[in-house]
Amino acid sequence: MISGNKTNHPIIDITGQTFGNIIVLGIDYIKYGRGAFWTCLCKACGNTFSIMGHSLRSGHSRSCGCLKIKHGQSSGAHHRKSETGSYITWRAMRSRCYNPKSRNYKWYGGRGIAVCERWTDFKLFFADMGERPRGCTLDRINRNGNYEPSNCRWATWREQAANRTHSLRSD
Ligand SMILES: [Zn+2]
Repeated sequence: MISGNKTNHPIIDITGQTFGNIIVLGIDYIKYGRGAFWTCLCKACGNTFSIMGHSLRSGHSRSCGCLKIKHGQSSGAHHRKSETGSYITWRAMRSRCYNPKSRNYKWYGGRGIAVCERWTDFKLFFADMGERPRGCTLDRINRNGNYEPSNCRWATWREQAANRTHSLRSD
């Protein structure tokens, strides 16, 4: 529970819960008289957006709105796209390891590099790694090791290149 102020309804912490295509990443802000707004990730399109907790719990919202746009029920005004870097990274990581059609599969899944079971769930990946810092990519500290919390960090290209010279040709 996150305690709201006494004149509001108590705020129920819904961090990590899923509503349709929406994953709740954490509380955004509390608006007097209306309750909490939550920062959410839309799995359907990768956008992050803010939404009132009541709209989620009522089941009224199942995506950020992009699904309605696809089905032509919207006025057509498309919201600004602000993809979350962590989600894109997570999706790409899984593709490299588990999709033989992925361009880079042979360097990852093809070599036995796997993603730890915990990170099957994007929420847990996000809980461990947080949002991707600008200019960084996911780096494995031991380049023959798996994608798991103890072997991963966000690193700039420069840091990754330095790591590679230490383990040159071990790939
Ligand atoms: Zn969406």
